[in-house]
Order: sequence, then structure tokens, then C-alpha cells
Amino acid sequence: MTYRGRFAPSPTGPLHFGSLVAAAGSWLCAREAGGQWLVRMEDIDPPREVPGAARAILDALPAFGLVPDGAVLLQSTRGAAYDAAFEQLRAAGHVFPCWCSRADLAASGGLHRDGRCVAPPAEDRPPAWRLHAPDEEIVFADGLQGVQRQNLREVAGDFVIRRVEGYYAYQLACVVDDACQGITEVVRGADLLDSTPRQIHLQRLLGVPTPAYLHLPLACDAEGRKLSKSTGAGALDPADPLPALRRALAFLGLRHDLPAATPAGLLAATSGCFNRNDLARRSSQTDA
Ligand code: GLU
Repeated sequence: MTYRGRFAPSPTGPLHFGSLVAAAGSWLCAREAGGQWLVRMEDIDPPREVPGAARAILDALPAFGLVPDGAVLLQSTRGAAYDAAFEQLRAAGHVFPCWCSRADLAASGGLHRDGRCVAPPAEDRPPAWRLHAPDEEIVFADGLQGVQRQNLREVAGDFVIRRVEGYYAYQLACVVDDACQGITEVVRGADLLDSTPRQIHLQRLLGVPTPAYLHLPLACDAEGRKLSKSTGAGALDPADPLPALRRALAFLGLRHDLPAATPAGLLAATSGCFNRNDLARRSSQTDA
């Protein structure tokens, strides 16, 4: 089977250091395997989307030497596929409509674990749709973080797969598209480690393959928070890509001092001596 990896940014801001780490890490794993590296724009959450961010990310990637091996998949064009997956789950009785408010769920830490909605149906308000979370431990071996176990009901509860506003949740869209793109290994930031059991459960219900998973360390700020657009991590400068790319490789625990005049040259040199066993495992602080 051909290895296929991917980078799947959300257009909530321009490319920042944490996303460059995920992009470069997934690219290197794909090159190591002699496979393909695809890009998917996760633009299914219009309220959180920043105008122009999708374009800015897609334009920045080649400046950092990261060129996808195929057309970019836009989640905003994939509504019919999500509808079909949702209908499949609904027909099989795996989902239920839910009118519970945040206040209704406060006592259970924001989680829903009843397997059915306990709030009265509201005629004037559409429901969210939740997936029954089984009282079952999902176990998988992460390529970097080792064996992971999660009891879905305890940790995630009956999670939302279609929101009140009608948007599909990240978990469903991600699973449908990883399957559609034939992704064999998901390499992404460790902030998504606890989403993976939900995704594996969905894959099983939908009858699609479970890819391998490798969760990269997270870049954190001085307070130990994940670096992200929402914590104010600065955009990278695509006009001066080499220093940021060297920092991203160093952050991943890789050689960053190889001579290269361009980002593509640096990535080629790094991939020439790349071994995934050298990847740093723990999240750490960066001044990026
Ligand atoms: N779109 C998600 C994010 O930017 C990543 C999804 C994934 O890699 O599965 O955080």
C-alpha cells in the first residue's frame, strides 16, 4: 500500500510556528516512507474562519518548501460526503438529537453520558446530533507517544458530530476525509491525541480503515500553553522562511544546521538523514 500522509490546517489564522512543525513533521514522515504528502484545508467552521487565512496558509507552504503531491482538498466542498456519513450513522441508530444546553451539562463537567437526550425537544430550535459513546476502552499505539488508552464514555462522552447550526464537527469531517484521501498515517500535533479514540470509533462505525497515528510534540509558550493563533503566536514570514524552518526542525529534535540555500534544499537535506525515531517526544517551550 502506498504511504499517504497529510497536513490539515484550519483557516483560523496564517501559518504559525506550531502549524509549520506539524507540516514539516508530516512531510518528513511521508518522504521517509517514499509516499505522498497531501494538504487538506479544514474550512468547515465558518464562524471561526478568518477571511483570507486559507489562501495565506496555502500560499505560505511552498515558500517553506512544502509542496503537496496532489490537489488540495477543501472541506467546504465536501458537504455531500458528510451528509452520507451522517445518514449512515443515523440509519444504524448510532446518533441521537440533543437539545441539552451547556447549563444542562455543567454538572457532568460539560460531558453528555446518558446515551439519549434528557432535555425536552424544542420545536423552535434545531438539535445538535450526538454519537452514543460506548463504555469501552479504545486502545491504539501512537508512533511516537506509545500505547494510548481512552474510555470513550468517560473522557469524551456522547460527542457532537453535527452542531446546532448544522455544521459538521471536526471529528466526523476528519474521519470521512482521511478515508476519502486514503491516508495511511496521520502525523499531527499532540493537542489532537485525545481526539484520536473518537476518530477510531467513528472509523469502526463507518467501516473505513484506521490509519496509523503519530502525534508530534507541541510547541508551547513560556506559560506552557499550546502555541496557536488564539494565544497570539505570530504569523511566520514567508519572505524569510529559512530561519523559521530551521527552528521547526530543531524543535522536532532534528538536524537544523545542514547547509542549504533554500527551504526545499534544507528539507531535502534533512530528509536524507531523517529517522522518525529521532523525533522529540515531549512538548516543550519555544520562543517562536
Ligand atoms: N485542522 C486541525 C487543526 O488545525 C488539525 C486536524 C488534524 O490534523 O487532524 O488543528
